[in-house]
Amino acid sequence: MDTPPSLVLNNDVALPQVGFGVWQVPADDTARVALTALEAGYRSIDTAASYGNEAGVGEAIRTSGLPRDDVFVTTKLANPDHGYDAALRAFDRSLAELRLDRLDLFLIHWPLPKRDDYVETWRALEKLYADGRVRAIGVSNFHPPHLRRLLAETDVVPAVNQIELHPRLPQAELREVHAGHGIVTEAWSPLAQGTLLADRTVKALAAKYGKTGAQLVLRWHLQLGTVAIPKSVTPSRIRENLEVFDFELAEDDMTALGELDDGTRTGPDPDTFDPD
Ligand code: NDP
Repeated sequence: MDTPPSLVLNNDVALPQVGFGVWQVPADDTARVALTALEAGYRSIDTAASYGNEAGVGEAIRTSGLPRDDVFVTTKLANPDHGYDAALRAFDRSLAELRLDRLDLFLIHWPLPKRDDYVETWRALEKLYADGRVRAIGVSNFHPPHLRRLLAETDVVPAVNQIELHPRLPQAELREVHAGHGIVTEAWSPLAQGTLLADRTVKALAAKYGKTGAQLVLRWHLQLGTVAIPKSVTPSRIRENLEVFDFELAEDDMTALGELDDGTRTGPDPDTFDPD
């Protein structure tokens, strides 16, 4: 069984470099699917209040029999729960769904810049962190101006920014900003929701290394230094996506994959996304 190596966050907490994402996993299937992932060797699970499946993630951890400290659990604050008091209440609800007494990583899911309340929302996360209820706090889908405001107006530097990132959207600017502030880059939709696997370059390079397209792309993430959280409901793929620690991409193949950058997003643009 492959156990992923970890990256160390800016507060010395270790985050496995490959985690398991559960967006779009139906609530009734999540306990079973997440248990398959834990049995395959994943030690990090990424959920969100808005996915409606936190309870299944908690159930999988309990069923697995793994010590609580061996599994890194991330969840995210839903968009309607921005604001200081609402965020504190939402955190309690998430922990109750997960049936955990402490979380590993809590993220603001989207900045929603038009609402102009992510700074006060962040202060709620700082309070949860100061109270020891979460081991690390971070953000998701924050662009450089949003990060700069947090850095200028609040005390705790986010440990993580979870953003859409894959070879078609390598996010060089954001990765540079993160590196300058010790923020770990976490890649969501690391396989571009599977669409990258039909790409000619990906197919050719996968054949060259004797790996699948998904493994090739996940290896690119590891060598870029990002955390990747692929999702699959298919047991063979769940296992396959963890078998990425026994080969290494040559520098020119890393470059060739990075050249697939055409700015394609599979999800919304954080500057304008505001679902309400
Ligand atoms: P991914 O890039 O992980 O791709 C998932 C898709 O690829 C599924 O259709 C899956 O199919 C397929 N797939 C997975 N592995 C393989 C494989 N080895 N071979 C072939 N196909 C494969 O996309 P997601 O959008 O799910 O992103 C991953 C995670 O990122 C989410 O689950 C969520 O945790 C997080 N996320 C966070 C967001 C945020 O705003 N912070 C936004 C979006 C995602 P199947 O399941 O049928 O096997």
